[in-house]
Amino acid sequence: MPGNAVLDVNLVERVPQSIITDEFLSACVHCGFCVPVCPTWDILREENDSPRGRLYLMRAEADGRVNPAGAFSVHLGRCLGCRACESVCPAGVPYGHLLERARARIPPRPAARRRERWLLSALTNPGAGRVTYAAARFLRSFGLASALGRFLPGKAGQLLRLLAATRPVFGHTAASTSAPTPSADDRHSEENDETTYVLLTGCVMDGLFAHVHDATRRTLAATGYREIEAPEQTCCGALHAHAGLLEEAREQARRNIEVFERTDCDWIVTDSAGCGAGLKDYPAWFADETEWRERAEALSKRVRDVTEILAAELRRSGGPDGVPGGRTVLEGRVGYDAPCHLHHGQGVTEEPLYVLRALPGLEVEALPSSDRCCGGAGMYNLEHPDLAARVRAPKLAEVQRGAFDWIATGNPGCIMYLGAGLMRSGDRTPVVHPVELVDRAWS
Ligand code: SF4
Ligand code: SF4
Repeated sequence: MPGNAVLDVNLVERVPQSIITDEFLSACVHCGFCVPVCPTWDILREENDSPRGRLYLMRAEADGRVNPAGAFSVHLGRCLGCRACESVCPAGVPYGHLLERARARIPPRPAARRRERWLLSALTNPGAGRVTYAAARFLRSFGLASALGRFLPGKAGQLLRLLAATRPVFGHTAASTSAPTPSADDRHSEENDETTYVLLTGCVMDGLFAHVHDATRRTLAATGYREIEAPEQTCCGALHAHAGLLEEAREQARRNIEVFERTDCDWIVTDSAGCGAGLKDYPAWFADETEWRERAEALSKRVRDVTEILAAELRRSGGPDGVPGGRTVLEGRVGYDAPCHLHHGQGVTEEPLYVLRALPGLEVEALPSSDRCCGGAGMYNLEHPDLAARVRAPKLAEVQRGAFDWIATGNPGCIMYLGAGLMRSGDRTPVVHPVELVDRAWS
């Protein structure tokens, strides 16, 4: 076979067949309920670009009937990983997990894999990330990203628009330092019953969305939660898992499990839907390692999106009046777009809307396509720019029709991709994280 010279055979052999030929693949009853909700099927109208077709391909590859370097890699590569198919599946097929496992079996082409690893390292490696994000913030702060991104074509223009969309809409205010943050060791000497949490700081979030972390910290402080610092934590590993680099993802997960176990916190809080889904999925990443799977299960039970915590506290205290702190009445219309990894990946559907609707002065509406992918999908929009833009187009039209003052969505990739699309079409509607609006209103 001509392609054999560039196949990484070791990678194929590293992923056991048993994992994807077990009862999960067999659970699909081919009913097709998942087909119409799939954005790629909707656009391409090709069975192999539907969840059911991709599951057929996974089965065929596992049985040795198709070459993993052929149609298998093309159609699995076009999947957004949005997991909308999981939400409607009556048989409970864990499509997202199967996809990650199946992608790990695609023989990588060395040049593409090198590019992918370089990009992942630039974004997630602590040393390389410091340089990447410092340069990115420099471009952002002087308005260069926004100015050049408005007219530059191609990938360079797209990258600049994505970067410009990360700017803090409400300015960058440092997190309050009035309540000192205890270290993990201090935590054990405290004699109080405060609810404690560790914030997953992550990679892209820490580098470009520190203002969202600050908003998360302030709103949690306002509800009486106390942060425990865990500086040894690392990237959640989700970007590597989505790229099929499961062993790298597991390495990051093992480190986070050890670090978070040491903190003995009540909750591990995320303000990035993709990272939250990654942490909650850790047990699936260790399906074949009993000890790590058990530790991952214990950890994933303590993971909460910030809107889950805020909604629970608002409900418990009888609404926003029960939360101490100032009040700023924000007036305007908010269009909510659900991140796939919150809505489908974590099943968190109502909480962000509940929290936003508790803010006086705001009129909050979910976009008609709120539960449908925006096309961003991590690095997908860079790898499949045309298809991603076609997935995004109906959502941009809804935003423009809705005449919103803000679009709210709780995932960095969605903020960036929606923001970049709006900028490209000359629409100045800002895209923010829901917790930024809460923070603004409670300040
Ligand atoms: S909805 Fe579930 S069972 Fe039905 S075809 Fe899709 S994956 Fe298979
Ligand atoms: S994850 Fe999304 S794009 Fe992929 S098959 Fe499921 S619905 Fe389609």
